Amino acid sequence: MALLEGRNLRKTYNRGKRNHVDALRGVDVTIDEGEMVAITGPSGSGKSTLMHILGLLHAPDPNGGPAPELRFEGRDLVDLGDAERTRIRAKSMGFVFQEFNLVPILTAFENVLLACDYAGIKGARANEAATAALQLVGLGDRMGHRPAEMSGGEQQRVALARALVNSPHLVLADEPTGNLDSENSKDILATLRRSNIEHGQTFVIVTHDGEVAAACDRTIRMRDGVVQPASQDRPIERVPFAPRPVERELVGAAGT
Ligand code: ADP
Repeated sequence: MALLEGRNLRKTYNRGKRNHVDALRGVDVTIDEGEMVAITGPSGSGKSTLMHILGLLHAPDPNGGPAPELRFEGRDLVDLGDAERTRIRAKSMGFVFQEFNLVPILTAFENVLLACDYAGIKGARANEAATAALQLVGLGDRMGHRPAEMSGGEQQRVALARALVNSPHLVLADEPTGNLDSENSKDILATLRRSNIEHGQTFVIVTHDGEVAAACDRTIRMRDGVVQPASQDRPIERVPFAPRPVERELVGAAGT
């Protein structure tokens, strides 16, 4: 069943000016519930712009072609006001970015708690959720650390805990492993896959990294602001999810 559907998605930056850029030129995408999908393509092909529209951070252009459509959980989102978009983002979506985007003066625990607060979850329930999320990403012993006191891999795991803490149906990640070495990339990818398997969460991952794309269920390829037709898809090499020993314990039979 479709979790997220976009039709006729267009975005032009600096419209009407000499330096305008047609970043998206009419994109149709369908993301099914429980999928883990990679969006790949050369730099400047419109991947981040598409992710921002799917995550309700930007609105698609209403003009210049057929009316854009955007549905999440069967609900039409194109004409929603800012307050309602923000509410859906906070409650039903999680975001992970290449630069981690943690608040430097807050501890790991407080950074995760902030996402609970945005979603209206407070008090003991929020504390429990934040603790569980940090434990899920293997940072139960770093909860009082500030970002500067953690490695890049640890910071991205905090960002992941923040994205997962409200059990969102959809997690959107923009180059989540872009600043990490291969060992840390594998850890992050394994954690994403674990959430996908255990909680049926849907992941859309913008990535340059062939290994990340190969570990996803499906790849959407972008070029010059459009999705490459499936017929032009090169078959991707399937890398089965292979948990490392500690993950094997956590995932149990479901992931093997
Ligand atoms: P990708 O994620 O594939 O690298 P982007 O979606 O970031 O591509 O960008 C697509 C195109 O839109 C690029 O040519 C980029 O320079 C341009 N672009 C992105 N954001 C802006 C912006 N805020 N203002 C003007 N141009 C932008």
